[in-house]
Amino acid sequence: MMQLIALKCPTCGQNLKPQSNEAVVVSCGGCKTAVSLHQSGLKAINVQYAASSSNKVEAWLPLWVFTGKVNIKRRESQGGSKGADKDAAKLWSSVQRLFVPAWQEPVQQARAIGSQFVVRQPAFKMSEPTDDMLMTEATVTPEDGLKLLDFIVLSLEADRKDWLEDLQFEIQTTGHELWAIPARRKGSSWEFLVGK
Ligand SMILES: [Zn+2]
Repeated sequence: MMQLIALKCPTCGQNLKPQSNEAVVVSCGGCKTAVSLHQSGLKAINVQYAASSSNKVEAWLPLWVFTGKVNIKRRESQGGSKGADKDAAKLWSSVQRLFVPAWQEPVQQARAIGSQFVVRQPAFKMSEPTDDMLMTEATVTPEDGLKLLDFIVLSLEADRKDWLEDLQFEIQTTGHELWAIPARRKGSSWEFLVGK
């Protein structure tokens, strides 16, 4: 028998309407609470809206921001590293936050977007959400986000100018936050309106 669960906002009681079967966090249309959908029950979670650098925002996209770092334990390339080892050391020593798109997006694209954020290390400013701002639902859990982070680190290292042969690394995180990031459509991807 199909199990029907009443999805009601734990804060205001309004019905929640997930767009996708894979939704894991949904914003309440009534009170804006971000509600995580667990089999064990619904829970209000904290979400921070990032200040926008533009008034052309089309969506507030969910982004997991992990605090932590990446330790490269072993990096070997064929025929010399051509400076790539140094570039790798420089990047990962500066990285303090790791970013994973949480909205529904093909894996390839999610990886590319996450990589850009990891390299840029943007500092988002928090803003008070107004009535017209509502975070798009998230389809990626923090646990899935961590798995995607493995691919993000791997693809950043594989994209360097040497022929990467072996890479061993460890991602250490100390916590994570959910942010809603202002964006607008640009071709088949997004432009993020968070300034620098
Ligand atoms: Zn509500």
